[in-house]
Amino acid sequence: MRAAALPVPLLQLLARLRAAGVADERVLQALAATPRELFLPQQFAPRAWEDFAFEIGFGQTISQPSVVARMTALAQVRPSDRVLEVGTGSGFQAAVLARLARFVFTVERIPALATQARKRLALLGLANVTVQVMDGSLGWKAHAPYDAILLTAAAPAVPPPLLEQLAEGGRLVAPVGERRQQELVRITRHGESFTEERFGPASFVPLVGKEGFAPA
Ligand code: SAM
Repeated sequence: MRAAALPVPLLQLLARLRAAGVADERVLQALAATPRELFLPQQFAPRAWEDFAFEIGFGQTISQPSVVARMTALAQVRPSDRVLEVGTGSGFQAAVLARLARFVFTVERIPALATQARKRLALLGLANVTVQVMDGSLGWKAHAPYDAILLTAAAPAVPPPLLEQLAEGGRLVAPVGERRQQELVRITRHGESFTEERFGPASFVPLVGKEGFAPA
């Protein structure tokens, strides 16, 4: 990574992530190569690399960059992988994933956010991402199975359709718990059984849908 060309807040963020144990340099490079300012409302652009979640409209948020890095690292994405993201939001997480995976399928329930994300991803020339408007709590069966699934909205429990759409050895990373407070979990598929690991507290907006929460 050419450190000299990067903004100071981004360098500080990368240093904090390394110190916190995010050791996968591919993930850190993908994060640093994705101009977060393009995914934010204009008034927040100067603060793009501050480690905050910002409002992006429609009551939704772009996740903190440290959370994006952590979830991406936990998903262990390889260059040949097919990845599903549930909760496109701004498109930033999808853009980071697009630099690491073969194909990224990302789904969003709010059409205006999906349209905006599509434009941003196209502007960056990330042609391996497909954005679709649908209830992602049911996954996206047409493109399954997925080597990795990232749920970037909080689910009351891991939606069974997402487990079904996970490939052998596939990893699913999700915030699971209550509407306001969750725990980050990683589920790995081994045949018809699944192992679960827990990675501490998380705070995401709710997954709203058939296998998620009811609208507020
Ligand atoms: N990954 C996003 C990013 O990089 O900006 C941030 C995601 S934001 C925290 C959560 C998103 O999940 C919101 O845009 C919300 O509309 C979306 N969402 C909630 N329930 C959903 C569902 N059932 N299907 C698809 N998207 C959903």
